[in-house]
Amino acid sequence: MNIEPVIILTNICNHKCIFCSRKDKEPIQSDEEKKIIVKNYTDTISFEGGEPTLSRDLIKWVRIAKKNRIREIMLVTNGFSLDREDVVRALLDAGVNVFNINFPSHIERIYNLLTDSCDYTKTVNSIKNIIKIVGGNRLRITMVLNKLNYVSLKDYFKFIKTNFGDIFYTEINMIKVKGRVKNRLYLVPRLSEINKFLIAGLNEAKKLDLKVISDGIPLCFMSGFEELNIDVFNLLYLKNRWNKEKQKKSVCNNCGLKKICSGPRKDYVKLYGSSELKPVKDEYQLESIIERMNFKYEKKMDK
Ligand code: SF4
Repeated sequence: MNIEPVIILTNICNHKCIFCSRKDKEPIQSDEEKKIIVKNYTDTISFEGGEPTLSRDLIKWVRIAKKNRIREIMLVTNGFSLDREDVVRALLDAGVNVFNINFPSHIERIYNLLTDSCDYTKTVNSIKNIIKIVGGNRLRITMVLNKLNYVSLKDYFKFIKTNFGDIFYTEINMIKVKGRVKNRLYLVPRLSEINKFLIAGLNEAKKLDLKVISDGIPLCFMSGFEELNIDVFNLLYLKNRWNKEKQKKSVCNNCGLKKICSGPRKDYVKLYGSSELKPVKDEYQLESIIERMNFKYEKKMDK
């Protein structure tokens, strides 16, 4: 099906994240469109926005998704009102089984700057509340990597482990040059600039035994951690080649990882070009990534 498994209930948001990739007046779907999504996906559906907890219809549509036996019903939220026990319990009872919280920085000043809010403490409390009620294994934290937070990635993981413990996983996404970011290009770091901080952060996460996935960072900038890139999983196991936001460039033709890499984001290349891409010459690297990937999923299946 050529539509994403995403239900947009509202385009209103209580935060004004300066790195938001949505348009201010993003169209929301009609009930007909929502019904088509709920009927056609059985694995995962996410409720997004705007801030979906601001929609009066959230509980209703989550219930419909649950009734349609969708395995994973994810709420993508900034944590608004989730510091209240009754709100989390109501969502849980309706059928939400994964909470995905936007947490762009563990540093209060940077968090508030990035979200254009004063909600740092509230969001930390929401995360702790979800863990208390639902458990860390139903919590996913998302950080959109940008010019103001990439340097502190190592400390970000330390903060997560110390304050939240073991969670389902942390998702590190490359900022998209879309929505509000189009007017704030200063927020977009170069891949070559984030590389050493990213690897240091991923080493720290490994040391702390934190699960991480990433999106939008080509494999030539994830040396030693390539299996964490969500597209590797999709290309290897789901054979899913539908990826309209990324594209390999001509330099990728000489790369040993081209079969499992989607290439850089198109919007990134439009801004900075593709001269930073570094084709991987080592022919054994592909094998070793596949081995690590298989090991990771065998381990998961054993649990
Ligand atoms: S050179 Fe291209 S195919 Fe190879 S890892 Fe980089 S982006 Fe991916």
